Amino acid sequence: MGLAAYTSAVLTTAYGVSPWVTLFAALALTAALALTLGFITLRLSGHYLAISTIAWGIAIYFVFGNLEILGRYSGLDNVPPVSLFGWALDTGRESYYLIWIMTLSALIAARNLLDSRSGRAIRALRFRSVMAESYGVDTAMLKIIVFLYAALLAGVSGWLYAHYLRFVAPHGFGVNAGIDYLFMAVVGGASHVWGAVIGASLLTLLREWLNELLPKLLQRTGNYEIVVFGVLMMLLLHRTRDGLAPVFARLLPAGPARARPAEAPPLPRREQPRSGEVLLEVRAAQKQFGGLVAVSNLSFEMKSGEILGLIGPNGAGKSTMFNLITGVLRADDGAIRFRGERIDRRPPKEIAARGICRTFQHVNLVSAMSVLDNVALGAHLRGRRGTVAAMLRRDRAEEAQLLAEATRQIERVGLGSHLFEPAGNLPLGQQRVVEIARALCADPVLLLLDEPAAGLRYGEKRALAELLRRLRDEGVSILLVEHDMEFVMRLVDRLVVLDFGEKLAEGLPLAIQTNPAVVEAYLGGIE
Ligand code: ADP
Ligand code: MG
Repeated sequence: MGLAAYTSAVLTTAYGVSPWVTLFAALALTAALALTLGFITLRLSGHYLAISTIAWGIAIYFVFGNLEILGRYSGLDNVPPVSLFGWALDTGRESYYLIWIMTLSALIAARNLLDSRSGRAIRALRFRSVMAESYGVDTAMLKIIVFLYAALLAGVSGWLYAHYLRFVAPHGFGVNAGIDYLFMAVVGGASHVWGAVIGASLLTLLREWLNELLPKLLQRTGNYEIVVFGVLMMLLLHRTRDGLAPVFARLLPAGPARARPAEAPPLPRREQPRSGEVLLEVRAAQKQFGGLVAVSNLSFEMKSGEILGLIGPNGAGKSTMFNLITGVLRADDGAIRFRGERIDRRPPKEIAARGICRTFQHVNLVSAMSVLDNVALGAHLRGRRGTVAAMLRRDRAEEAQLLAEATRQIERVGLGSHLFEPAGNLPLGQQRVVEIARALCADPVLLLLDEPAAGLRYGEKRALAELLRRLRDEGVSILLVEHDMEFVMRLVDRLVVLDFGEKLAEGLPLAIQTNPAVVEAYLGGIE
């Protein structure tokens, strides 16, 4: 914001350039800086990212304050107003309309973006980035894009600020200003598009009012409103972590119920391998966590068209094996081949692109997002449209295809009546089924299911077994981790039994059931 404001102020005052030209110069410079900062700081996560942005805020304040050409701490004045067809927008009222036009455009673009293929991925970034990677999202790239977009919005506001106040000085862009904006975002609700407007309006009005009231009340002047803001924020965070936007949304009348997405031309499908072809080949895989060997010298093979069960007591290394296959973890040793090609050492998104899709033992849905959007995220790699197309709504044809496909998969697993429910509201068993629908949405060649029947009722388990058999008949191969022996034995073609990371036995269900070593491990282990 500061960089754009100063760029525009310097170019218009010292060189007489039109503000409309400096807008682009300011945004270009902002974009360049944001990309540089983004590549450096986005590797940091959580608090470190926040702390480093505060550091940048402090640094830029002193840079502005110490440069002669920027007027040092007194800043630059006589910045010209923006003019439109020779009409200078030099009163508050005229600027007001310009500011609102820009704000509304930004809000609409943000809403369009969040309601798209990229938007679903963006909403998964914060808490579900491992899952997003497993469905082909380039999370590092997407974080940079989000950072860049936020910087460009800040740049536009810096430009508006300079030409509305007609004056720029360092204090407008220091850490305190940054904290003000943080308050606005938190109070309004950072995860809601309208939260920004609510937070900014409320805090600005409140500040005006307190500025008048507090000196009278306390008989002295000072920035006491900041204390009130602090207390307010604490109270608010206790009451509503998501800020005021959801509270306001509840006051509005509910819109019409959303209709089931319309049918659309189907997305292209992947060519499935011939039945019986060797699909997955694990050779001497090894994975250690510190001193603990989670997967030890494990080899097995699976053919296309097969349902292979991977069973073993708790902690045997089954989920770890899934993580090795999907690239979430890197094997210490050994090789994993998919359709003849090495896939260990490949990033998750590349493995996903080959048609290996998974569900997670610990359900990995974006809880606040609808079942439909969660499942549509599975089809991320089947779409192409990016962020700019989404903001401009040039992605509607593809989006209709993605949503129609997601709807079909949700109906296929029997959750058609829950399309628009937030995924986090469903019982845990059904959330697992949503995960299966999401995996199906990716048009998988190999489906990895980590304890899909856990938490399901008897009838639901039977329906799930029925669905998995039908999938196999349609050519999808399934690698299944499951604890419910009855469920496994009646479903799988073959079993691999793990214990302490090692292969204990391998064979047909009947032979496994009577294998003494397996019986021993299970009696000594779970259930
Ligand atoms: P399973 O899925 O068969 O129940 P896991 O593969 O989850 O077993 O775990 C195998 C072993 O590896 C367990 O002892 C577990 O505690 C350990 N483990 C799994 N993931 C990690 C990790 N990220 N860091 C350290 N230890 C882990
Ligand atoms: Mg597990």
